[in-house]
Amino acid sequence: MSRIAILGAGLGGVIMAYEMKDKLRPEDELTVVNLGSTYSFVPSNPWVAVGWREREDISVDLNGIFQKRGIKLRPEGARRVHPEENRIELNDGSFLDYDYLIVATGPDLAFNEIEGLGPDANTSSICHIDHAEKTKAAFDALVKEPGPIVVGAVQGASCFGPAYEFAFILDTALRRAKQRDQVPMTFVTPEPYIGHLGLDGVGDTKSLLESAMRERHIKWITNARVGKVEPGRMFVEEVDEAGAVKTAHELPFAFSMMLPAFRGVPAIHGLEGLTNPRGFVLIDKHQRNPKYRNVFGIGVAVAIPPVGKTPLPVGVPKTGFMIESMVTATAENVASLIRGGEPKAVATWNAVCLADFGDEGIAFVAQPQIPPRNVNWSSSGKWVHAAKIGFEKYFLRKVRQGKADTFYENLVLDVLGIKKLKELRIEPAE
Ligand SMILES: Cc1cc2nc3c(=O)[nH]c(=O)nc-3n(C[C@H](O)[C@H](O)[C@H](O)COP(=O)(O)OP(=O)(O)OC[C@H]3O[C@@H](n4cnc5c(N)ncnc54)[C@H](O)[C@@H]3O)c2cc1C
Repeated sequence: MSRIAILGAGLGGVIMAYEMKDKLRPEDELTVVNLGSTYSFVPSNPWVAVGWREREDISVDLNGIFQKRGIKLRPEGARRVHPEENRIELNDGSFLDYDYLIVATGPDLAFNEIEGLGPDANTSSICHIDHAEKTKAAFDALVKEPGPIVVGAVQGASCFGPAYEFAFILDTALRRAKQRDQVPMTFVTPEPYIGHLGLDGVGDTKSLLESAMRERHIKWITNARVGKVEPGRMFVEEVDEAGAVKTAHELPFAFSMMLPAFRGVPAIHGLEGLTNPRGFVLIDKHQRNPKYRNVFGIGVAVAIPPVGKTPLPVGVPKTGFMIESMVTATAENVASLIRGGEPKAVATWNAVCLADFGDEGIAFVAQPQIPPRNVNWSSSGKWVHAAKIGFEKYFLRKVRQGKADTFYENLVLDVLGIKKLKELRIEPAE
């Protein structure tokens, strides 16, 4: 009998639990530790922030579903992982022992690295459902009393898709409210160019996004470092290629949403050998920690080096499909280990992303994430908005049904030539 613990029940952790359960033996024990017992679909938060979705639309109570699947849920959350002792200390002071641990804790939002940043200070956020609901109130106030918007991401951020997406969604929502003409918009980003996305661009994302921003009257500042934010005013330094300050901007705003930098959550931050200095889990090609060989990492929680040098720090995004590929590889590898085998599955880490504008959108596929690539494709159109709604409905259905991927999902991905695992390197589990 093996005891497997998954830390975090977000986009990666829930699907991890389903795939892992499918691969375990009847005598094995699977426990998920999460902060609470509700799953919330993060990619729909931008829609919540403008009132196109309510919390209930994108939330799932995991209790009954996990129980039906024979998965234990500990909603207390983890205070600290003790990898030397193979145990997790929970927030209520109790302990959970494990033989294998899969860390899926997502990001800790580093708002406090910039003075005045974040939903407890002077900017809004869409990173968490609670933030998105608070942002909706700020958006309603903006519609009543329009003024300039500053939207984007700060230095060290790694999640740029949602920043672009939210700028375009705001544009659409304000047009529908007939207030867009009263709202000058500026997009602020540390990326060296529009459409870099932490991936050095994918296909034609530079032209596609620049053109969409021009068409929608969104100005931008790239290579932008946010110094501090005061109520209604952001202080931004635009740097040159060497990182020296080129122009200092003082941007007044009536509404601002800035994505923060991410770091690892406190329960794992600072564990020598398990995490890097930012608190992200160090992993090898099998998603396995090099020091603690019974610990695996998936999702935003893992450490991935940047794709290249940029004047300001720009991280690599960890998007939904890439995370699902990490899940599939980890399930294969843990299943192999508990049967006395070796981990052999390697995730493809392909980035497949849909950036919704509320009426149309931009899609891209990067295979692999880091250039040069075998597939480097981007496109735009109304179909992207429809596909994003499809992704939301499909993913939530999967979570509610307690199932990992389905025949149809695999069929569609196969037709598109998108794989979760590197085929040549997999060998059957012993
Ligand atoms: C606003 C936004 C929009 C995005 N949109 C898209 C998109 O459209 N498409 C796409 O592919 N990707 C998107 N992403 C990127 C990515 O897919 C999501 O961030 C995704 O939710 C990451 O999954 P995860 O499992 O790594 O982390 P999360 O989904 O954040 O889950 C982490 C889980 O760990 C739990 N946790 C944290 N600390 C502890 C602890 N101490 N103990 C126990 N549990 C803990 C949390 O409660 C949470 O349930 C988006 C990201 C953001 C922020």
